Formats: sequence, structure tokens, C-alpha cells
Amino acid sequence: MSAQHPGFSTLAIHAGAAPDAATGARATPIYQTSSFVFDDVDHAASLFGLQAFGNIYTRIGNPTNAVLEERVAALEGGTAALAVASGHAAEFLTFHCLLQPGDEFIAAKKLYGGSINQFNNAYKNFGWNVVWADSDDPASFEAALTERTKAIFIESIANPGGVIVDIEAISRIARKANIPLIVDNTMASPYLIKPFEFGADIVIHSATKFLGGHGNSIGGLLVDGGSFNWVGDKRYPMLSAPRPEYNGMVLGETFGNFAFAIAARVLSLRDLGPALSPFNAFLLLTGIETLPLRMQRHCDNALAVATHLSKHAAVSWVNYPGLPGDRYHELAKRYSPKGSGAVFTIGLKGGYAAGVKLVSNLKLFSHLANIGDTRSLVIHPASTTHKQLTDAQKSAAGAGPEVVRLSIGIEDAADIIADLDQALGA
Ligand code: PLP
Repeated sequence: MSAQHPGFSTLAIHAGAAPDAATGARATPIYQTSSFVFDDVDHAASLFGLQAFGNIYTRIGNPTNAVLEERVAALEGGTAALAVASGHAAEFLTFHCLLQPGDEFIAAKKLYGGSINQFNNAYKNFGWNVVWADSDDPASFEAALTERTKAIFIESIANPGGVIVDIEAISRIARKANIPLIVDNTMASPYLIKPFEFGADIVIHSATKFLGGHGNSIGGLLVDGGSFNWVGDKRYPMLSAPRPEYNGMVLGETFGNFAFAIAARVLSLRDLGPALSPFNAFLLLTGIETLPLRMQRHCDNALAVATHLSKHAAVSWVNYPGLPGDRYHELAKRYSPKGSGAVFTIGLKGGYAAGVKLVSNLKLFSHLANIGDTRSLVIHPASTTHKQLTDAQKSAAGAGPEVVRLSIGIEDAADIIADLDQALGA
């Protein structure tokens, strides 16, 4: 029995959803429409003025997307969520609510490579400056604080897998500095780690990965933890200042502990535009119904594969926190006791050539850039995602010539292991 009711598996299936009032449809209908008819002029005016909740136009909200938002908010233990077109869009809209030109945020160096690019390059055009810190050394976040720092950004289980971050230690630094802690919970999913329980203020997801879980749709969410007090805080004018877009309304005062999710919708998504298609919301919702089952199986399979590879003659090292003796094993027991996720890296004794040979010889694994699919996936970063870097840069990024990243699927563990064995031996 779960300690909390309703339990996680019940929420994964039911949160936010009810039989359709008009038709009785039990699965969430796909409201494939761009816009919604108003009852009358007063109704329209109250929706546009944020005096009433309701549907206007799918770019800023849709009933199918609303079920996804409510479900992920419930699973994370947040107050509200916003579904958007991708994980990258969730990051972008989150920072758009928090940062002014010239502001800084501190981010962990160990992050998804796309986030590193986004922060280093794309954000420069907005005058948003990233300062890098080391998630293995929480004090480095404190050392990086300045009076322009507006947020801290970390991943719970960090890319390329095998890294468990001490969220609580970093959240204490954020709290002391009175800035929000944003946690990208993509690799763990709320089944393994709930960052709000460890002091996060905002959680973001690439739903493309484990939430959706089937490698069939791109989507993202941001979740409001309701914990940060924006009211009267001049550093965050999107939440604390009268908004010209809404006749001087102060969103932090009007919407209280879900003001961040509202600001992200009515200021950032409305004006910047990366909306999630209701069809993708439907696919992601269907995936989430089995999240607890899949995630446990991903972790159990990953531990079996990591254990096997750690004894394999062709493998020099395996970075998987579930393995006793791994440098993150103690943090894994504390933060992620049900398992250490599906994604991890291995080092091959044969170096670059062995990496290329492995990805070429695998048959059950798919050689591609995604993670978090039901299917087992593999990539050799040095010959693909990190190919343009120098050898020194590759090694610094954890993408040395011998490194291979695995995302272990939910097939039979014996078949996954047999495929690796044949490819390593070939
Ligand atoms: N965050 C993490 C941890 C990721 O792995 C990814 C994608 O790989 C993203 C964010 C970006 O998400 P998306 O590809 O949905 O934009």
C-alpha cells in the first residue's frame, strides 16, 4: 500500500481526468481545435482579463493539455503546471519569467548538452548570462552568487546519466540567497525523485523522454512548486509588478501559490508561442498512465545490464549509481531508492574504434540521439553528438573516445544483455 492516498500509480492514471461531460468518453478526448467559442461578449472579456478560467485559443491552453498539466502537477506534488512544445521550450519560458537583460543564473556543469548550448549561446541574445558551477561541489553554487543572480538550475539525475545530484544541499544555498531553485527532473521522473520534497521551487521536464516514454512525441512541462514568495520582490517584475498586458494586475498577488505557472502561460507562452499540440498531449498522457511500471522496469533492467557490463572483459568502467562502490551510490540510496534510472555511460577498453564497432554491431539497440524510450538506445558521443569538439573538450564533457551512452529499455533484460555481448564480442 502507498503511504499517501491516492497513491502514485492511481494519480498516474486518474489525476486531472474524468469521463468527458458531453460524451462519456473515458479516455481523455483530443480537443483538436485552434479556438473555442465564447458564450457571449462578457464571457470573452472576462477570459481575456483573467477574471475567469476557460479556453480561448490552443496556443495558451487546451482541455487535453489541461489534463496533462494537472496530472504532472499532481505527480510532482506541485500547485500547477504548464504544458509546452518541448523540454527546451519549458526551460526557455521558465527563464523568460525570471530574467531581465543583464541578469545571471547559475547552472550545474553536468547537464544535457542541448541545455548547455541553449544557456551558452541562445540566451546571450536576451542578455541572460549563465554562470557554471559543479553539482558535485554544492559550495561552488554559493561561490558563484552575485547580486544579479536570479535562479539556480540543476538536473536531478544529470546527463549523460549516472550522476545523482544533492538537491537538498543546493536548495539550502538557493533559499539562503532567496532565489528559486529550478530542477530538470527529466531523467528521474517523479516516480524516482520528487524535487519539491528536497527544496526545489520549479520543476521542468522534457516529456519527450520518460514521461511520454514511447519515443513518439516531443513535449515539455514546467511545474510550479508554489513555494517561492514573489510578492513585493522587485527582482521578478513579471510576477511582482503591475503588468501592462493585464491592466496593471500583479500576478503574484492575484494568483498566490500558482502565480508562476500563470505567468508562464499568460506572459511567456502567450507572447513567445511554443504551444503543445493536443494530439501530443494525448500521447504523453497515455504514456504517463504506465510511468510507474515502466520506470521500475527501466531501473531493474539497467541495474542488471550495469552489473553484467561491470564484469565484462571488454569494458573498463561502468558509471551507474545503483552499483555498490559507485561514487554516487550513497546519494542514490537517499534520493532515488527505487532505482538509479535507465541512462548511463560505459568506457570501452578498445577506445574510439571499439565504440564505433559496438554501435554498428548492436541489433536490438537503436543507434540514435534520444533517451527514455521503451526500446533500448545507444549512442557513441565522440563520433556523433560531440564529434566537433577537440579530444580535450570531449574528455572534459565526459564524452571521451571510449565512452558509450546506453538508455536501457523495458525489453527482457536477458535479450538486452545478449545483444551487448554479441556486439562486444563481434
Ligand atoms: N532536459 C533534459 C535532461 C534532456 O535530456 C532533454 C532532451 O534530451 C531536454 C531537457 C530538452 O528536451 P526536448 O528535447 O523535449 O526539447
